[in-house]
Amino acid sequence: MQLYNSATHKKEEFTTHTPGHVEMYTCGPTVYHFAHIGNLRSYIMEDVLEKFLRWSGYDVNRVMNITDVGHLASDADTGEDKMLKGAKREHKTVMEIAQYYTDAFFSDCEKLNIKRPDVVQPATGLIDDFIKIVSGLLDKGYAYVAGGNVYFDSSKLERYYVFNDHDEEDLAVGVREGVEEDTNKRNKNDFVLWFTKSKFEDQALKWDSPWGVGYPGWHIECSGISLKYNGEYLDLHCGGIDNAFPHHTNEIAQSESYIGHPWCKQWFHVHHLNTSTGKMSKSKGEFLTVSLLEEKGYDPLVYRFFCLQSHYRKGLVFTWENLDNAQGAYNKLINKIAALKPENGPVDEAVLAEYKEKFNQQVGNDLNTSMGVTALYDALKAKTNDATKLAILDCYDQVLSLSLLQKGEEKRRELAAQAKAHASAGYTVTGEGDPEIDKLVLARGEAKKAKNFAEADRLRDELKAMGVEITDIPGGATWKRV
Ligand code: AMP
Ligand code: ZN
Repeated sequence: MQLYNSATHKKEEFTTHTPGHVEMYTCGPTVYHFAHIGNLRSYIMEDVLEKFLRWSGYDVNRVMNITDVGHLASDADTGEDKMLKGAKREHKTVMEIAQYYTDAFFSDCEKLNIKRPDVVQPATGLIDDFIKIVSGLLDKGYAYVAGGNVYFDSSKLERYYVFNDHDEEDLAVGVREGVEEDTNKRNKNDFVLWFTKSKFEDQALKWDSPWGVGYPGWHIECSGISLKYNGEYLDLHCGGIDNAFPHHTNEIAQSESYIGHPWCKQWFHVHHLNTSTGKMSKSKGEFLTVSLLEEKGYDPLVYRFFCLQSHYRKGLVFTWENLDNAQGAYNKLINKIAALKPENGPVDEAVLAEYKEKFNQQVGNDLNTSMGVTALYDALKAKTNDATKLAILDCYDQVLSLSLLQKGEEKRRELAAQAKAHASAGYTVTGEGDPEIDKLVLARGEAKKAKNFAEADRLRDELKAMGVEITDIPGGATWKRV
């Protein structure tokens, strides 16, 4: 696979430290609020990347942290603690907030067909490991204590910047956000490894350490968690583009100083989901969630489809109109799949292999998911039988995860049930596409027509007990689950 590496600014052949095996790390969510659909764009694209690697034959160990401590309002260690902010907002404890929003995050992921990483580690569960790394950095002379906190000394590195050359402005982030700068720092790029005294209100949770009671900085958690579960040679590190600096730059600084050799080979950064007013962000307070999309009647997979239509290294603008277009295209795709006849076979293995290789070339070119989506339409147009087309779509969907065959099958059953209902003396049953229910609703309609009201009532009651509500409409009935 060819993959763009933000550390070298080049598309490169993807390689791993151990042949056939990928150690992959993803920066997880800061669980002080719901994930917004911008965050989820990053997780969708990372999910496709992981699935593509597995599909290509790699065995993948994917690790993700849950940030439940240490992430301040500004990524440069200044401002209010994000978890504390969430806890205050909801009059709950930090751990209650963390649990609630971690569960909400994984529930959103499930709705978007995002696979759960092999290892998920909340930062608060690994404090001893972080302390060990901070002690190691102090022993090696890469860190210093000032004003009660432990800082990484960026002047000890030959090269600090990895992803870009930044000028003086970078760490003026704090100034821009109207919060006080940390004067304990010896150099502008130094960052906190361990807090015992923040100038800002303290995080609620604290632990004992050789430097006093306190809590870890945000960056150290990703290094600590990755070193523990991925080992010292990381193949692939993922995150949104805003994580590149200073978060990932600092992760590299502390990890490599601690282990004494190069750490992560490839860096994968997903560009932002933007609204008409700029980047979607939690701290702005106004953002869109998966639940909101559902409330408005969208299937979350339509949002996944929308994301796959564009390249991860380009900003993506969200508008309702764009989502409606994606909804229309997704529905049409499912209808086309539903029209295929699975019994029209057998699967032509040679054609399947040919299409698999095409997809490998297209998506394997820097995770070109929009080409992956185009490949679905090509498969539908292929000069082959329906069973083979379905096998190709199934093969592609192992990577794209749009539930294509399942949705196609549901639609096919719904259409079949409707066709059957139509055939029954002009009496039409419509509903949620369950042939068994359709049959009972149809039987009730027939009983009514035959003036067998006792039987019609009995069937209505039976359906009601199954949680199904029937509404009579001209020329038939419609039903829904309540
Ligand atoms: P957070 O929960 O703020 O720590 O962010 C979780 C992930 O979402 C990180 O990888 C961020 O880089 C990423 N992210 C934040 N905002 C956006 C956005 N608007 N579009 C895409 N990814 C984002
Ligand atoms: Zn991280």
